[in-house]
Amino acid sequence: MPVISKGNLVLVTGASGFVGSHVSQHFLKGGFKVRGTVRSESKGEYLKKLFKNDGDFDYVIVDDIAKDGAFDEAVKGVDAVAHTASPFYVTNIKSTDELIQPALHGTTGILKSIQKNNPDVKRVVVTSSVSAIMCVASKKAPYTYTEKDWNVDSVGIVEEKGVDAPGLHIYNASKTLAERSLWDFVEKNKPNWEAVTINPPVIFGEIIHECPTPEKLNTSVARVYEWAAGKKTEKDLPAAGGNWVDVHNVAEGHVLALTKPDAAGERFIVGNGPFAGQDICDVIHKRFPDLKDVPVGKPGTHDEITKDANVFDGSKAHKELGIQYVSLEDSVYQTVKSVRERFHF
Ligand code: NAP
Repeated sequence: MPVISKGNLVLVTGASGFVGSHVSQHFLKGGFKVRGTVRSESKGEYLKKLFKNDGDFDYVIVDDIAKDGAFDEAVKGVDAVAHTASPFYVTNIKSTDELIQPALHGTTGILKSIQKNNPDVKRVVVTSSVSAIMCVASKKAPYTYTEKDWNVDSVGIVEEKGVDAPGLHIYNASKTLAERSLWDFVEKNKPNWEAVTINPPVIFGEIIHECPTPEKLNTSVARVYEWAAGKKTEKDLPAAGGNWVDVHNVAEGHVLALTKPDAAGERFIVGNGPFAGQDICDVIHKRFPDLKDVPVGKPGTHDEITKDANVFDGSKAHKELGIQYVSLEDSVYQTVKSVRERFHF
């Protein structure tokens, strides 16, 4: 069960993203070297500046993860891989390929590049999602999902309806196909390295990646931004919203996936339970009383709103990886603080 040790080099794909930037920083702060993949030189230079006091960071350009051989060069000489790159949006989808091709071929592509050019890497952690676990069509809420569950709905729905399928199913299908391709590859090729997946629900937390305008915010942080920036009204509450987790817990999960011997071959839900829009508004009112354009709803009604919500059980990551979950109040506070600083409101 080989693991990486301090000083080893980790390839982080999608280092310019919300999650990828934190994953990179956690590896750096943990004493590892990081090679990040980005789509442009300017994104790479932004990260070099961001991480200048955190450790040894460099980048390579991989402009489209869906292309054959995209990672052939990037994987050379690394000790492990954290594959976070994958498109995440659920609206304005013009073709299912937009999401499925990069998710699926990005994953199979990097595994093929590893086998071809660096089969001695020790571990590969893939950022999957609860999207690869949830069965919103075939399982009735409230249901408690664990790592044993697989999404058996979305791929069929997308096969049947194509781009007319709900955007969430298209994204969920992309993540399901990507994660399945990882475990199928391991089963079929029996590589020397070991695989781990981190399966988070909606991720909140501070933004550190380059994001010049609110319109360019990643999907999950945008969900907090909209409440804070006065884009929602009383009518939008209570807005039961799925499960959530803080980005630092997700990034920490990626480091532990490569450093804990027993993590090999496992999926980990890194998630801290259900939330509603009401919870986000309650935190904003408490911690940012100067923000006036935030709906009030019925403060303190979390239990009532989420009583029939599905739960993605994150206890395995707590018990086996040792993750201590950040509270929703802290996570929403950090999210709002960072978007206010970035966008000056
Ligand atoms: P994000 O900020 O949009 O990051 C996505 C990253 O992937 C970016 O670096 C992006 O590059 C890169 N990317 C996307 N398509 C690409 C392509 N075709 N070629 C090259 N690079 C590509 O989103 P995120 O929220 O950080 O998501 C990161 C990972 O976490 C994804 O695997 C996502 O499925 C997973 N996840 C996210 C959440 C969440 O709530 N945020 C929850 C569960 C799982 P650019 O920066 O150049 O666009």
